[in-house]
Amino acid sequence: MKRLTGQDRSITSRWRPATQAVRGGTARSEYGETSEAIFLTSGYAYDCAADAAARFAGEQVGMTYSRLQNPTVEMLEKRLALMEGAEAARCMASGMAAMTAALLCQLSQGDHIVAGRAAFGSCRWLTDTLLPRFGVETTIVDGTDNDAWRDAIRPNTKLFFFETPANPTLDIVDLAAVCAIAREAGVLTVVDNAFATPLLQRPMEFGADIVAYSATKMMDGQGRVLAGAVCGPEEFIEKTLLSFTRNTGPTLSAFNAWVVLKGLETLDLRIRRQSENALQVARFLEKRVPRLLYPALESHPQHELAMRQMDAGGTILSLYLDGGRKQAHGLLDALELVDISNNIGDSRSLMTHPASTTHAGLSAEVRAEMGVEEGMLRLNIGLEDPLDVIDDFDRALRAVGL
Ligand SMILES: *Cc1c(COP(=O)(O)O)cnc(C)c1O
Repeated sequence: MKRLTGQDRSITSRWRPATQAVRGGTARSEYGETSEAIFLTSGYAYDCAADAAARFAGEQVGMTYSRLQNPTVEMLEKRLALMEGAEAARCMASGMAAMTAALLCQLSQGDHIVAGRAAFGSCRWLTDTLLPRFGVETTIVDGTDNDAWRDAIRPNTKLFFFETPANPTLDIVDLAAVCAIAREAGVLTVVDNAFATPLLQRPMEFGADIVAYSATKMMDGQGRVLAGAVCGPEEFIEKTLLSFTRNTGPTLSAFNAWVVLKGLETLDLRIRRQSENALQVARFLEKRVPRLLYPALESHPQHELAMRQMDAGGTILSLYLDGGRKQAHGLLDALELVDISNNIGDSRSLMTHPASTTHAGLSAEVRAEMGVEEGMLRLNIGLEDPLDVIDDFDRALRAVGL
């Protein structure tokens, strides 16, 4: 088939990131379709019984069942591995399915992991509640403190698990330093890169071993489907992860994979424009609220580190009001354009009160330790004209006396 280059890594690995996001991994059927086909099929038929046997024995290339392989999902996996600079990738039904699989597939009773304290609420549930139930111990550290990572290592430490920037406090973990500490001790790093995506930050270039995603966020980018992915060395993906996911079944549907493939085509445009919009809104809000965190602002305590690791600030900012939950809820209720919603990475501007939504499942103690205060709000900046978002905030802030 003419110019069918999306599957040839010797060609696609030379492409620049925006080209990879549009064309990487694309395969065509005999119809020559330009847009990737959706293969909504659970199974595959064989020409003869011997073929079926050969395929199950791994002696014949081909698909057997969509819990194990699917052509549409495989296109997305190839594209994501390429964009991440990873040897391989596997997609999952959601970001949390990806995080759970990335951890459980390689941990056993008696192992120990170290995790960053600022994290997505469900990731903290995995480390604090689920893993200990199966005899895996967790030490939670301040992810911004490199020495804390080193000091937490024990003889049975298997993994470091963290996100950067972290949800929702926007803590930045020093990727190069923390991955080097892990390497030296023979510990693997699992990085949740949902906020930045490979277009703004490629943790493997800083020494990370495994990078996991919620593709629900920036990759879909329009708030339509849940999806997740794990990227890593071929040996890890094909052996350790695949035996876990093929038998437990957190499989991504072909339709959702297709939606994410379409989302990736515009990821470069969206994430750059949304980062520009976020910076403009952040500069306005910074003058009107007591405290605001955005990695691309000079006022962020780890601004320099963030900009060393990331190409732009991303779509998320967090702000702190002095009037606690009452004023935070008041501001949310006074907004007309910005929706009250806990999703992020969407093309719409959305704001949530983490203490009463995304992080409500954690104890007040854990929230306080993470910096999720009652007066804190997390804001995702979308693709609207930032001046309209600023107008909306100007009006809503006045309504709550700011
Ligand atoms: C949303 C999110 C997740 C979970 O992803 P889902 O697709 O909602 O399951 C995990 N980590 C981070 C940082 C997230 O923002």
